[in-house]
Amino acid sequence: MSVDARFDPATPAGESTDAAPAPLLGIGVVAGIAASPALWARPRPQLPTDGPVVPEAERDEQKERFDVAAATVADRLKGRSEKAEGHAAEVLEATAALVTDKGWRRAVAKHIDSGTTAVVATVRATDTFVAKFEKIGGLMAERTTDLKDIRDRVVAELRGEPEPGVPSPEEPVILLAEDLAPADTAGLDPELVRGIVTQLGGKTSHTAIIARQFGIPCVVGAGSALTQIQDGSLILIDGEAGEIETTPDPLKAEARAKESAEVQAKIRSWTGPAVTADGTRVQLLANVQDGAGARTAAATGLPEGVGLFRTELCFLSAQSEPSVETQAGIYREVFEAFHDQKVVVRTLDAGSDKPLAFATMPDEPNPSLGVRGVRIAFDEPGVLERQLDAVAEAVKGTGAKPWVMAPMIATVEEAEWYGKLCRDRGLIPGVMIEVPSAALLGDELLKHVEFFSIGTNDLTQYAMAADRMASQLSQLTDPWQPAVLKLIKMAADAGQRADKPVGVCGEAAADPLLACVLVGLGVTSLSAAAPALAAVGVQLGQATDEQIARAAEAAVSAPTAQAARDSAFDIIKGGK
Ligand code: PEP
Ligand code: MG
Repeated sequence: MSVDARFDPATPAGESTDAAPAPLLGIGVVAGIAASPALWARPRPQLPTDGPVVPEAERDEQKERFDVAAATVADRLKGRSEKAEGHAAEVLEATAALVTDKGWRRAVAKHIDSGTTAVVATVRATDTFVAKFEKIGGLMAERTTDLKDIRDRVVAELRGEPEPGVPSPEEPVILLAEDLAPADTAGLDPELVRGIVTQLGGKTSHTAIIARQFGIPCVVGAGSALTQIQDGSLILIDGEAGEIETTPDPLKAEARAKESAEVQAKIRSWTGPAVTADGTRVQLLANVQDGAGARTAAATGLPEGVGLFRTELCFLSAQSEPSVETQAGIYREVFEAFHDQKVVVRTLDAGSDKPLAFATMPDEPNPSLGVRGVRIAFDEPGVLERQLDAVAEAVKGTGAKPWVMAPMIATVEEAEWYGKLCRDRGLIPGVMIEVPSAALLGDELLKHVEFFSIGTNDLTQYAMAADRMASQLSQLTDPWQPAVLKLIKMAADAGQRADKPVGVCGEAAADPLLACVLVGLGVTSLSAAAPALAAVGVQLGQATDEQIARAAEAAVSAPTAQAARDSAFDIIKGGK
């Protein structure tokens, strides 16, 4: 195997041919080029794990100090949330709520009762929660950034130190950080923060999600090499290639950033619907997670419907199964936000990185290969059946005709069984293509269901046997891998033979260049977070049908992910 420099995000991209050092490499998560002086986020406080034993008589005072500090931090975050909008406001509010979390506060009080200072108690209580979340892994592990963030804010407050995190820049900067907490990113001003680079994080980290929402070029997972960059030094970042140039030519850097800003302006003014340069329509849909998200997506006017409603995200904190009525109420909100338009509901994808208290097997040795997705219904179909009842109930009076798909389908029997459950309730059944076996069995599966939606995040994870959350495996968890493209083509071909639609709803659909390739492979719709759609629409509009077909052909037969990307780039963007 030839070792690709990309394998280690902290490794420079290889030998440079001129005097300039090779760019540092991370994972590009929001396309666009920015060139500005670097500014590091304020360091996190030093955290003691031990300290003097506090005499019993002084412990109440420590508790009071903690309460005051926590309340100050919560108020500050709430104040910012009131000034922010949309998702940023929700993130700030959620972080403020975390500061008031009873379990965490009780744990801090318990440590103080055993004689630690308020600072040490805050650190120890948080460590326990972080360890628990890391053990669960996946999305829960990503929540540890939020926990550590509130810990740092409270500790700084207890010590009378300035708030850690993002300083307020006076001129445009590229923000550098080890990692950014949601509360840091939510308050960003995109006029001043022109780019973001973090040492840690992956494609689905909060930094990536928020940067995408603001359209700020962003590179994550750049590793420890980033620390060589000093505050104030000019850097150029390419959020598509994941590159960070540490000594760019100032004039060229300015010109590239300007050109990129022009493309971004086109993206901002794009209104849809998506058509290729030859006028071929491509359906663009939104990924949503609840009624509020659906309304926000609908308000952009860009999506033609919902391509993935991740229902499990509505119930991450539910301790018991929500009633059919409660579920129906939530689903109805989404149908109403997109009335008359296509809405693809996904049944609960519980387990693995999205554990639900009422539908996840405890203590599985290998949760991503365990009882997750539709598998939760194998032994106890009740939860799935009641969810489908709730979807059918939610339809009443809305005129919606939802398409309802199951995650993690792997066999023909599963598709047949699931298809019947939906049809019995008057729902249109489909399955997600996330397990390679499902792509291989496309023709057989489509005898039992009406559509496919390809979940490229999991399809890539399972095709490449590489954990989608492992940033050090990003070379493998890359949907440009030719093996993954071949599986996508197999599913799309099966759809064409059966004359049934095949969409993509994984992150791959949000990559404008890859979106062209997916269309060339025969995919009929693309679904992504609403803020990502305009860039996809602009890119499709600049490509002819012939270029799209040729790029797909070249990518699927390329020897490596990088070669697939390069050949598609040359054909679509380079006009070759
Ligand atoms: C996917 O796997 O691509 C997908 C869309 O599902 P999720 O990311 O929610 O697992
Ligand atoms: Mg999935």
